[in-house]
Amino acid sequence: MDVITSVHQMKRHSAQARAQNKRIAFVPTMGFLHEGHLSLMREGKKRGDILIVSIFVNPTQFGPSEDFERYPRDFGRDSRMAESVGVDVLFAPEAREMYPPDHQSFIRVTKVTRGLCGKSRPTHFQGVATVVAMLFHIVMPHVAIFGEKDFQQWVTIHQMVRDLHMDTEVVGMPIIREVDGLAMSSRNTYLSPDERKAALSLHRSLERAREWVSRGERSALVLAKEVSEVIQSEPLVRLDYVEVCDAQTLEPVERIEGDTVIALAAYIGKVRLIDNWIYRVART
Ligand code: AMP
Repeated sequence: MDVITSVHQMKRHSAQARAQNKRIAFVPTMGFLHEGHLSLMREGKKRGDILIVSIFVNPTQFGPSEDFERYPRDFGRDSRMAESVGVDVLFAPEAREMYPPDHQSFIRVTKVTRGLCGKSRPTHFQGVATVVAMLFHIVMPHVAIFGEKDFQQWVTIHQMVRDLHMDTEVVGMPIIREVDGLAMSSRNTYLSPDERKAALSLHRSLERAREWVSRGERSALVLAKEVSEVIQSEPLVRLDYVEVCDAQTLEPVERIEGDTVIALAAYIGKVRLIDNWIYRVART
């Protein structure tokens, strides 16, 4: 596995791979890898001749009072894990190289970033779209793989790629969970044992919604109320939002009819976690 830290070298490496007609698969991450990240990498191995993974804790997607400084980092462990699934290149640039002091260009995807996490993190998706666009220009992937755990991020990237006529195919992969249902996240490492137990209510609430939908409930209001009651029964958890939205546009819906996402965010102590459940209409 090659480790590349310079933008220039990464571009050269990708240009060479393209010149040899190799299909480049790409998985962008912020590191502190877990099984969720590895599932995207395994998919990347299947979809490309060469798999490039980036590890970059992107400062522009953190708000001023968020956890950029203390975001968990362990490059040694990450490189061992990446190597174990056959990653060909680990791209780990420094922030000052990605954002030199005179950097002043940003990408804003307007509609789909307004609701859900966009309300409490108003600059987050601008940071995400900008860094992903930069990484796409540097890595030049044919295909990039994202997790549906960050559902709004996935919809935002999808929209950006369409709007800007980018040549990269974007693929979404299902949420990987711990055995007890907690969605894997690098931020789970912040949780105390009691908080971790309380955090299980996020998945439990979505499971409840899933059961209700399978029994025929279609009202967004009823489902959102049930989800928030399950979460609010945990004193350590403070709900940020629960929304029932169209899975493509992220517009709120009144009834579950087409593909729909029930998305939520909650604070457990100072830790903000997200989770979702996607209802997909069976297609023949
Ligand atoms: P992050 O390192 O948190 O920026 O995540 C990098 C990529 O991994 C994003 O596309 C995430 O959606 C994806 N990801 C994070 N956690 C999970 C998970 N539990 N299951 C599947 N994908 C995930």
